[in-house]
Amino acid sequence: CGIVGYIGTQQAAPLLIEGLTRLEHRGYDSAGVAVLGSSGLKVAKKAGRVRDLSEGLPKRFGGKVGIGHTRWATHGPANDVNAHPHTDAVERVAVVHNGIIDNAAALRAELTADGVDLRSDTDTEVLAHLIGRSTAKTLEARTADALSRIEGTYGIAVTHADFPDRIVVARNGSPLIIGVGNHEMHVASDLAALVRYTTTVAHLDDGEMATVTAGGFTTYRLDATGFSATDRRANKVD
Ligand code: GLU
Repeated sequence: CGIVGYIGTQQAAPLLIEGLTRLEHRGYDSAGVAVLGSSGLKVAKKAGRVRDLSEGLPKRFGGKVGIGHTRWATHGPANDVNAHPHTDAVERVAVVHNGIIDNAAALRAELTADGVDLRSDTDTEVLAHLIGRSTAKTLEARTADALSRIEGTYGIAVTHADFPDRIVVARNGSPLIIGVGNHEMHVASDLAALVRYTTTVAHLDDGEMATVTAGGFTTYRLDATGFSATDRRANKVD
């Protein structure tokens, strides 16, 4: 339902919670955040309000990179396990997803047959495993690999403990916006979560993926064989 992300010089968790609060008007049944800190990936997620999530956040939740989500359940009931972010088997990848993966049942069966222990009932979890299992070199290539297996709609944001300097985002049928700050970048599915921080934004098109680092962003067009750079620029909104 709602996606936020932050990478920069500040602590991510309070900014993610603030962004999620600004998406509350869209309606949701659960919320969660993942941050990358010096001790790796940390995830907190809960059925209920953003306030319940923030009040229950562990003390040690530091990190300057993170993603967050408010969920409107389509696959599996609203509970803590089904809340996003979802992670891979070794908890190095975290994914938040808006939309519906139409071939999730087939992908879940394939992963299960391969020995993957699926923890949730969601369509989204398959993405975390597909990215986690990809042997491609870069996070962008691993994400493109995983997305090439997906039929359906998505706005996604991905963090990976092995690639702590970036968030990878992609869009197909569900909005994804990058907000440009000063030595920091935001991502969100809705302008409402960004305007407090910046009015310089880039809207991804369907079929686009982007790398977001603290210093800027690069966009790509996804295609059957992978992805190639595009030159989308950010513009001022008023
Ligand atoms: N299909 C996903 C789920 O049920 C995402 C739903 C959403 O857009 O919030 O978890």
